Amino acid sequence: MIGKIHSFFAGGTVDGPGIRYVIFVKGCPLRCLYCHNPDTWSQEGAEEHTPEDIVKEALRYRGYFATGGGVTITGGEPLMQMEFVTEVFRLLKLNKVHTALDTSGIYFKKDDPEVVAKFDELMKYVDLVLLDIKHIDDGEHLKLTGKHNKNVLDFAEYLSNKGIKMWIRHVLVPGITLNDEYLKRTKEFIDTLKTVEKIEVLPYHTMGKVKYENLGIPYRLEGVEPPTKEEVRHAKYMLGVIKDVA
Ligand code: SF4
Repeated sequence: MIGKIHSFFAGGTVDGPGIRYVIFVKGCPLRCLYCHNPDTWSQEGAEEHTPEDIVKEALRYRGYFATGGGVTITGGEPLMQMEFVTEVFRLLKLNKVHTALDTSGIYFKKDDPEVVAKFDELMKYVDLVLLDIKHIDDGEHLKLTGKHNKNVLDFAEYLSNKGIKMWIRHVLVPGITLNDEYLKRTKEFIDTLKTVEKIEVLPYHTMGKVKYENLGIPYRLEGVEPPTKEEVRHAKYMLGVIKDVA
């Protein structure tokens, strides 16, 4: 079995708890307007690795894991390579390594028993899911990512019902997600979930813009500025991350 990999990063501190070995896979079915990794969309030019090789390499960083860290698989969209990711996590759990999966949840289909069975197998080996809720409103989600949000919200409910811990991530983009009605609806949805350990508000930034230029892809958020500190605090307050905005 071979995985299509973009890159590896040893020493990550933003993709799960502790210090982590982070695996970036290649390939993503979404086209988020704010994506800062458009170089992971296509699987062309990917490095190819077996799960065994990856786990062997990750285990060289055992020192990190003692900090409460572990291994995170992100992308791109890891679940475009579901079987590969399942096998990497299975091998990591045999070695008692904490595992985190950063996903959009877009491949979940609650009415398809075959798909659910694959997720059930994967979840045996996942300690934490970093779940991006990109937009709570379906029409806006479609405009923002190119896909509907039903599978994402169903996936969040599935994780909650299965008792799988999750950190919810929400990118704050002026004019798109920075909106009180949407933030309120996002919070109401999150409040229905039983296993959310943390909510992360990620301010939109333009650092990925140069990648678009290099790839010759039009940058569709031209002219959109990152949110101000006050706007970020306000959104954190709306989502219940902080108790007041002062
Ligand atoms: S899901 Fe992630 S990698 Fe895929 S387009 Fe959206 S932000 Fe980019």
